[in-house]
Amino acid sequence: MSQSISLNYIGSVSSPYKEKFAIPRQPGLVTAAKGSITLLGDANTVDVIRGLEAFSHIWVIFVFHGTQDQGWKPLVRPPRLGGNAKIGTLATRSTFRPNPIGMSVVKLDSIEVINSLESTTQTKSVILNISGLDLLDGTPVIDIKPYIPYSDAIVDAQASYAQETPSKEISISFNDEATQTLKRLNKKYPELKAFICQVLEQDPRPAYKQNKKDDKVYGMALYNLNIQWQFVSLYDINVININHKHDKH
Ligand code: SAH
Repeated sequence: MSQSISLNYIGSVSSPYKEKFAIPRQPGLVTAAKGSITLLGDANTVDVIRGLEAFSHIWVIFVFHGTQDQGWKPLVRPPRLGGNAKIGTLATRSTFRPNPIGMSVVKLDSIEVINSLESTTQTKSVILNISGLDLLDGTPVIDIKPYIPYSDAIVDAQASYAQETPSKEISISFNDEATQTLKRLNKKYPELKAFICQVLEQDPRPAYKQNKKDDKVYGMALYNLNIQWQFVSLYDINVININHKHDKH
């Protein structure tokens, strides 16, 4: 029996999360996150997704392409345990695994087929619009399956340190300048405020910083925006700046 297989990417994720920092730690936590999967190569056909539109949620199986070069270790420190205790990698959802494979349940909002121009030939692209994703922009997709609640959802399952949904103790405010910018961007990104709030409520900082005094100004990349924020007390974040990336001011 062969000890390895080679896989073909069947899709590519377009995500508002442009870097690892501030991506939620699981799907479904930030429902305002909207992205898409563009099918690729032989999988880019309307036949392959026929019937999928009748499912509200899908499993996305993907490659942790942003961290795959960093290898893996048998033990990791899950953020849910404050980043202190070590747990077996296979007992966590860490990105650093023997095979860099991730799986996320996301909401399937719609499926579209768009005409696109590849060099000079007109081609069709099948696009799955999804929300609640926890995926980095450009994530390669290796499989998509319908989510089947009768089998996939086990409501009385035991989940050790990850039993509860992470608590949201943090409240978010926007300074005047950021509020003005939100207004200006409202047409292009109508859900931006909710999106920023949901992301920050997860406390994106490294686990060891949680519940500690911290006056550092953090920046996170959502869409083509650089968003700066700061803790103003233990459980209050103030958004202080929203800039287009590469903006001079
Ligand atoms: N739901 C998935 C992923 C959980 S880990 C699973 O359980 O397998 C979630 C983290 O993966 C995010 O916080 C983000 O930092 C990271 N991530 C998402 N897409 C990634 C990618 N393409 N490469 C590397 N890390 C990624």
